[in-house]
Amino acid sequence: MEMVIPDAALLAQWDRVRDQLLKEYGEATFSSWLQPLSLVKSNDQGHVVISAPNAFMRDWVRDHYFRRVESLLKACNENIRQLELVVSEDPQPQREVGRGAVEIPADMADIEALGAQLDPRFTFDNFVVGKPNELAHAAALRVAESAEVTFNPLFLYGGVGLGKTHLMHAIAWHIRKCHPERKVIYLSAEKFMYQFIRALRFKDTVAFKDQFRSVDVLMIDDVQFISGKDSTQEEFFHTFNALVEQNHQIIVSADKSPSDLEGMEDRLKSRLGWGLVADIHPTTYELRLGILQAKADQLGIQPPQKVLEFLAHKITSNVRELEGALTRVLAHATLVGRDITIETTQEVLRDLLRANDRKATIDDIQKKVCEYYNVRVAEMHSPKRARSIARPRQVAMFLCKMLTPRSLPEIGRKFGGRDHTTVMHAVKKVEELIAQEDSIREDIELLRRMLET
Ligand code: ADP
Ligand code: MG
Repeated sequence: MEMVIPDAALLAQWDRVRDQLLKEYGEATFSSWLQPLSLVKSNDQGHVVISAPNAFMRDWVRDHYFRRVESLLKACNENIRQLELVVSEDPQPQREVGRGAVEIPADMADIEALGAQLDPRFTFDNFVVGKPNELAHAAALRVAESAEVTFNPLFLYGGVGLGKTHLMHAIAWHIRKCHPERKVIYLSAEKFMYQFIRALRFKDTVAFKDQFRSVDVLMIDDVQFISGKDSTQEEFFHTFNALVEQNHQIIVSADKSPSDLEGMEDRLKSRLGWGLVADIHPTTYELRLGILQAKADQLGIQPPQKVLEFLAHKITSNVRELEGALTRVLAHATLVGRDITIETTQEVLRDLLRANDRKATIDDIQKKVCEYYNVRVAEMHSPKRARSIARPRQVAMFLCKMLTPRSLPEIGRKFGGRDHTTVMHAVKKVEELIAQEDSIREDIELLRRMLET
């Protein structure tokens, strides 16, 4: 039976499987091992082939994730009988893209091979800048463009799917293009750990150390992964210091700020906060719309503006999900040959829209507000009236009224059994404050966005 390129329906199912894998395994594992897999061909007999970029990754995936991938895919499509995992026939195609005609010296190629592949789509050109990510973008561009080290390390942090990896790859592509003589290595913290463990096992730690310490720019993605992994942290710490001493650039990303990284040694946390710490905030409507437009332009498709606006309104979780939604809508339209409308969009994305409609609960709100103002949740319930606690409590009550369908008495009860008039008073008070003070307006806006994503 001849194998052919998979059709759009199968690719859409594969996309769904990938979304699910991301949820189940988390960002770090997903981007290191699962994202690089592609569904390459299939036939009428239900035989499907997926490929991994190299034998090492194929083996790791086979031993760790294959059964889950298979069962998810079969659950999406009951015609699938056999799933095969192979090494991509097109060895490391992406590595060629950014290098162009530049010849990479052999030893440098070796060193870069330690790292992970770069996604050819993740360039500065393809990155849409808006308020939530402008600081991170400017810092990334600065590091990419300047040969001098101005801040070390650059620490990028933010929630899942907001563009951290994209920015790091963009830096690497830029340096490869403009300064091909500089050694850049990009890898996930998970892969760093894996390399380290392998070096230990093969008693090859000297080579390991030399390799990492000889680079000009070291990028470690999702550093939270090494939380609680003491010996890897130790090694990373030494690598870090060695590079800083030689004035070489380090770029690190994480899902939290350095001080909030749990399970990290204090000395490492403090080192990570030494340079510039840039956070990426949750997306705004404008940014989401900009991203959708850019993506549609790239694909050379112009869906109705109304549909893009609808998606930007509805899919607020993160950019990855937003892109996935657009892809699904476009794939569906191509598949059934119908125009893209808001109705078909709603239909195709029913499950996703429901998930994005998820309402915050009173508990969520209390927790977030407490984190934000640095007070303890117990203090929300306590009778204390000190302003440092009373104000966050009022803000939390206000948000509960705004964001949940709960009544005033219900809200009062959840705040240590307070009366509904207290809640009413809090709501009025916060409304007044919003009208008067920019800072509180910003606090509320930020909290609202965090709670809605
Ligand atoms: P993170 O590493 O923060 O979890 P990624 O960098 O993997 O997120 O981004 C998820 C997806 O969203 C990628 O496909 C990326 O290209 C896209 N993306 C994120 N932010 C932007 C942006 N500002 N402009 C264009 N695409 C973006
Ligand atoms: Mg990432």
